[in-house]
Amino acid sequence: MRIDELDLKLIYLLMDNSRLSISELAERLGVSRPTAKSRLEKLQKEGIIQGFTVKLNPELLRAHNIVALIVRTEEPEKMEEFEEIIEVNRFTSRKYLIKVAVESMEELRKVIEGAGFEVIEVMPILETVERKSPPKVKVPFKCDYCGKEIVGEPIVYKYRNRVYFFCCSTCLREFKRTRENIEKFKLKGEREGSVH
Ligand SMILES: [Zn+2]
Repeated sequence: MRIDELDLKLIYLLMDNSRLSISELAERLGVSRPTAKSRLEKLQKEGIIQGFTVKLNPELLRAHNIVALIVRTEEPEKMEEFEEIIEVNRFTSRKYLIKVAVESMEELRKVIEGAGFEVIEVMPILETVERKSPPKVKVPFKCDYCGKEIVGEPIVYKYRNRVYFFCCSTCLREFKRTRENIEKFKLKGEREGSVH
């Protein structure tokens, strides 16, 4: 399973609004409609986008409480030891959104302590998706300004409906400034162009 930056941007856009059409996606990604369409189909075919389809599992609901957790962990491989963890979504190298099926808060506590999670947020939920296999996607985040690989969480910035990733606030600031200059230059060019 390999996904690149374009896939990721598509995922970000869909996470924001899963009802975006192919045309809207293409426009926001700055690619052609066929490209956006084939990317979306690829992500669905490879099962990366399966998480967007929420399927009610009555069996699981009866037996367990489903809890969503945003966690930070230094040892993500530990999650595999816990059957209670039914879904794993990776944000960054250490930050995950997981779903845990437990019968009690005591059980939840055991999972958290056993896996060595630092819990950022806990949310009890009512619907979940069955876990087929844990995602093992290495995401190559690259800064849209300096081009360096992003360590940790990317800064996500939307400009003219497009999504950009930045490694730090300096790159974001420089990007914004460059864009402003381009806009000014364009305006100037247009004005001068109209004179001749
Ligand atoms: Zn950068």
